Amino acid sequence: MLATGGTIAGSGGSAFGSGYQPGQIAVGDMLAEIRSLGIEAELDAVEVAQIGSQDIGWAEWNRLHSEVARAQADDEICGVIITHGTDTAEETALLLDLTLDAGKPVVLVGAMRPADAVGSDGMRNFANAVRVASDPDAANRGVLVVMGDTVFAARDVRKAATSSVDAFKGYPRGPLARVTPSSLDWFGPAARAEAKARFDWPDALPRVAILIAGAGMDEQPVDALLGIGCRGIVLAGMGQGNAPQSVLDALQRAVASGVPVVRSSRVDEGLVDRNVEVDDDARGFVAARALGPAKARILLQLLIASGISDPAAIQAAFDAR
Ligand code: GLU
Repeated sequence: MLATGGTIAGSGGSAFGSGYQPGQIAVGDMLAEIRSLGIEAELDAVEVAQIGSQDIGWAEWNRLHSEVARAQADDEICGVIITHGTDTAEETALLLDLTLDAGKPVVLVGAMRPADAVGSDGMRNFANAVRVASDPDAANRGVLVVMGDTVFAARDVRKAATSSVDAFKGYPRGPLARVTPSSLDWFGPAARAEAKARFDWPDALPRVAILIAGAGMDEQPVDALLGIGCRGIVLAGMGQGNAPQSVLDALQRAVASGVPVVRSSRVDEGLVDRNVEVDDDARGFVAARALGPAKARILLQLLIASGISDPAAIQAAFDAR
């Protein structure tokens, strides 16, 4: 169990208040509560951070990656559970999914309600995560996210609501399994048997920005991003990754200057395909396919960090599942 904070370790000091602080409960206290539930798992806990996941970044990811790799190499450990804030769970999940072997189960879990709220979901989600992480059928599926009695693959998962306990959805695939503290039903076999990590762990992640397109905008935000040294740009475009002509022209100039541009959508569902309304072939853009802006940014950061900046090679990585 690798603890990082989030609402699962959050406290508001009142069962009825709306305000609270994530990452308040130390891992030892969480462990005591988990043990009091009678969960039949031997948990070896490490506190990696005690933060709201909006503050997660390179230092925590670096530590998490090495702790998970250490646990994967330890024959005594059958699975890894990461407790995490929900805001950026999809980013941490995809980053680890792309940089770790898929073999031993790695499960990210969080909560939408703090530990002392009425109807808190944290301990139920944790009990579900234990069930998933200790199930042999969870192996070879890459990093998994367990929320709201549901199991998602890192590549699909998205936080799609700000406050409901079933805030997580999977695009384009829905859930991989349903889980409760007493049951686990997989909907299909593991897809990544024997899969090795797709990327080496980088020395650092480059600055990549997400630019959200809005009606009536002009191209100046693109120039501003290039002015602060962005090494890549993810467009969160309208519909199928669209943007006004002047913005597309500025993004094309960015590509010509060696800054890759990936077109994703500000819409939650559906794929962004190549050459639909935007001529990606002519402009040198990459279509994000099923990845939303937050995850497209992580993949583009990893690609650039790995020395891959050619649009065709980047497109191949976005097409891969
Ligand atoms: N913003 C905090 C975080 O992501 C709390 C939200 C949550 O965990 O649900 O850690």
